[in-house]
Amino acid sequence: MRLRINQIIVKLKYTPGDVLHVIARRLEVQEQDLGNVEILRRSIDARKKDRPPLYVLSVEVSYEGETPPALTPGQVDVTQEPEPRPVVRATRPITHRPVVVGAGPAGLMTALMLAEAGCRPLLVERGAQTETRQPQVKAFWRQALLDPESNVLYGEGGAGLFSDGKLTARSKDRSAIRHFFETLVACGASPDILIDAEPHIGSDVLAEIIPALRQRIVEVGGEVQFNARLDDVGAEDGTLRGVVVSGTEHRTDACFLATGHSARDVYHMLGQRAVPLEAKPFAIGVRLELPQRRIDWAQYGRWALESSLGSASFRLTWKGGHDTRSCYSFCMCPGGIVIACASSEGLLTTNGMSFSGRAKPFGNAAFLVPVSVKDFPQQEGCHPALSGIAFQEAFERAAFEAGGSDYSLPAQRLAEFLAGTNPKDIPVERSCARATPANLETLLPPIIMRTLRRAIPRMLRKLNGVNLEEVLVYATETRSSSPVRIVRNPATGESLGVRGLYPIGEGSGYTGGIVSSALDGMNAATRWLAGNG
Ligand SMILES: Cc1cc2nc3c(=O)[nH]c(=O)nc-3n(C[C@H](O)[C@H](O)[C@H](O)COP(=O)(O)OP(=O)(O)OC[C@H]3O[C@@H](n4cnc5c(N)ncnc54)[C@H](O)[C@@H]3O)c2cc1C
Repeated sequence: MRLRINQIIVKLKYTPGDVLHVIARRLEVQEQDLGNVEILRRSIDARKKDRPPLYVLSVEVSYEGETPPALTPGQVDVTQEPEPRPVVRATRPITHRPVVVGAGPAGLMTALMLAEAGCRPLLVERGAQTETRQPQVKAFWRQALLDPESNVLYGEGGAGLFSDGKLTARSKDRSAIRHFFETLVACGASPDILIDAEPHIGSDVLAEIIPALRQRIVEVGGEVQFNARLDDVGAEDGTLRGVVVSGTEHRTDACFLATGHSARDVYHMLGQRAVPLEAKPFAIGVRLELPQRRIDWAQYGRWALESSLGSASFRLTWKGGHDTRSCYSFCMCPGGIVIACASSEGLLTTNGMSFSGRAKPFGNAAFLVPVSVKDFPQQEGCHPALSGIAFQEAFERAAFEAGGSDYSLPAQRLAEFLAGTNPKDIPVERSCARATPANLETLLPPIIMRTLRRAIPRMLRKLNGVNLEEVLVYATETRSSSPVRIVRNPATGESLGVRGLYPIGEGSGYTGGIVSSALDGMNAATRWLAGNG
């Protein structure tokens, strides 16, 4: 009999023996009658400050004893042995090999599934492979040398390569998530990501996993081309006939478009090809940096120095008032660094990343305020669905200029930001070396500024002990999610205008984040292979 048991509580430094002991006690059975213990999920409970934080586990265990175990529905249930996920094979005739565009999480997982199914996909990526991209990104951060085709946002691994590598998953499709995580583990990620409630990889480890993932795609018959940019899609009678990649035509009847939401030229090209697009809401704001020790103290109290806890995270929200909007913290990077991001000359945005150890002295998070389509002024001569892009670009240009026009991030102490006064200086101790003191007042619309000023002190108050004088504000966060949706046929996942064109991942406007983008690509590939797409 296989049993699933929730709420197994063990100390942070537990051994397999400790887990077995607690399970046996809970089931009121002998330890020797239990076997094959699998931890399904693990989260830290640090709510009580008067006792050390503990792990709360969900486990599965095999039981062979004679006495029936104590079952309590929802806490201890009989379950089934897990079924291995079947390898999907193509059941449709393949005339031309499918083309996948973009080697971010969505494109890589799509290409892998198509290759494993024997379809020999061609994966094209405008940026460079990881090994070449890393020095390019360093040159951008250190010397402001921007390569518009290969940078923090473009290149193998996509926007996720220089990221925190948080694997936040909202999907209910546990088996697909498991498959994605197992693929990452097979490529070098820690098996802890299979069980942790808040799995994290870190940019240093991602830089090893992504080339291994590419290697797997090639081993099972896929082809990967770097510095290869999709320039055009060709369709006849509403059906895809081929794509143009860096001047070369490729005949295909299936193109999986995983170009992310920074590839604004792709949206413009699709708009010219009459592919249905619509503007969608997103969020903008600033990124705050705080001493990590204050966050740890606020979350873990006197246990903050317990090394097995790692750097603490937070999630904060604020509902808004009558003349303000709501605000929420986003993409918190404990023990991380604030980074400058750009994929076009003269436009600058900020974000956060971390390494696997999350051991840097600062934590950072975006503080975002939603913007709706009503906020985007229509631009003359601009496709109406792309007005959100023009809106983003205006604030990215303003940030670039406020930072001194050399890709330094404009930054201001929180106290001055709240008071609206000119900055005297910014702290020498900070994570982002290339930052310039600037008044952030005009770098976002007045309603967003008003909301941030009202919300931030109230939100930070929930982190007991955080000193507002120690907080640094970087501008601006403009690319938290896509401002455009490439409208899909809900039944097939294809573009509503071009059969055979599959917009997937974050750039499609239907997903956000590493996991949901990867899963979106896997779903599209599975559906297409089965002949349903
Ligand atoms: C700094 C940073 C930190 C982040 N941290 C996290 C995090 O911790 N957790 C999380 O879940 N999410 C995080 N994100 C968001 C996450 O990276 C994205 O949601 C995810 O990468 C989207 O995956 P994607 O494959 O859809 O698109 P992308 O990752 O954007 O990949 C798109 C790829 O397409 C390529 N491309 C674009 N146009 C073309 C073209 N015309 N021809 C060929 N190739 C093209 C690009 O070069 C790029 O490599 C972070 C993002 C950033 C920028």
